Amino acid sequence: MRSLFLSAFAIICPVVLGTAYLSVHEVNSHEQAQYAGPKPKNIILLIGDGMGLTQITAGLLANGKTLHLEQFPMTGLMRTHSARELITDSAAGATAFSCGCKTNNAYIGVTAQKKPCLTILEEAKKNGLAAGLVAACSITHATPASFVAHVADRAETENIATFFMETEVDLLIGGGMKYFNQRKSDQRDLCKELLQKGVVQSDFSKQQLADIQPDPQHPFAWFSAEGEPVSVQKGRDYLPVAARIAPAFLKKRSEKGFFLMLEGSQIDWACHDKDGPRAVSEMLDFDEAIGAILRFAQKDGETLVIVTADHETGGMSLEQGNAPDSLDIDFNTGYHTASMIPVFAYGPGAELFGGIYENTDIYVKMRKLFGWAPVPQDGK
Ligand code: MG
Ligand code: ZN
Repeated sequence: MRSLFLSAFAIICPVVLGTAYLSVHEVNSHEQAQYAGPKPKNIILLIGDGMGLTQITAGLLANGKTLHLEQFPMTGLMRTHSARELITDSAAGATAFSCGCKTNNAYIGVTAQKKPCLTILEEAKKNGLAAGLVAACSITHATPASFVAHVADRAETENIATFFMETEVDLLIGGGMKYFNQRKSDQRDLCKELLQKGVVQSDFSKQQLADIQPDPQHPFAWFSAEGEPVSVQKGRDYLPVAARIAPAFLKKRSEKGFFLMLEGSQIDWACHDKDGPRAVSEMLDFDEAIGAILRFAQKDGETLVIVTADHETGGMSLEQGNAPDSLDIDFNTGYHTASMIPVFAYGPGAELFGGIYENTDIYVKMRKLFGWAPVPQDGK
């Protein structure tokens, strides 16, 4: 009880409320210490939405007992509660990573007091780095949106889309084109507006991503047709391809480095539906993307790769199967759970990711490794 009470103080975003409350930095006093180790030029944050330890274990067993995740030399564990709730949703979970502050469920890029907070992606752009977002859902969905948009309701997808006009993300790969060009709330055609800014667009339904050679002279936006991309089981095949294209493209966009967030979005959806085989196929698709990112980072040598999740979904369990290698997957809820989430790190600065810490510390560690000045005091 006492620790719950204490954490209620720790979760209030320090940027807004000042020194009366514990800041994320104070909660983890070791973060105060100067870090003198190697620093990455590029950071790639990979989020497997809903990917807890059991989802990883199921993927591993289904894949002949191996995953690309095993190649990460550093692992840690993260607490995921949001500002008001023990169990976070993807909006608050992603905002913890993007802004370093515990906010309420459904809030996107705003503090618990609904104040916009500067995201790590926005700050990367301000510092001259390139930035990209890749998701296996619509690009306006909670996880990718939390790096660009600032709204207190994740359901405002058309409103969220307008924020992509304000921050010039170099690369967008995901679905949700209809929130840009078939808008009910206003008559704007955001695809046309992006085009006017020199952003090149393509349509999944017309051209395969693998056939695209994005020109680094132009920011490159990519949306799949209309709404949400289908599942891997129904033929979605772009996430590993996007993972191969994105870092190579972003590296050419800025000499100062880049920030990329790539999400395996539908592990969560399969687990909400209590669909074990679909969860495994989404997990393995995400792991393929992880493999592509790792190959880039191994060759590049200046890239830190972090793999984690916003929360576990479904309370997934592995039961006794009919044979030693058969999986019997069960779920005990249709929603998320509060269990701690693993963090995997590879590359310069990976040593900072061992131990047990808050999800907001992912942000603190990434900023520290980018070597930026102390956290801005007044939100945006
Ligand atoms: Mg998500
Ligand atoms: Zn979910």
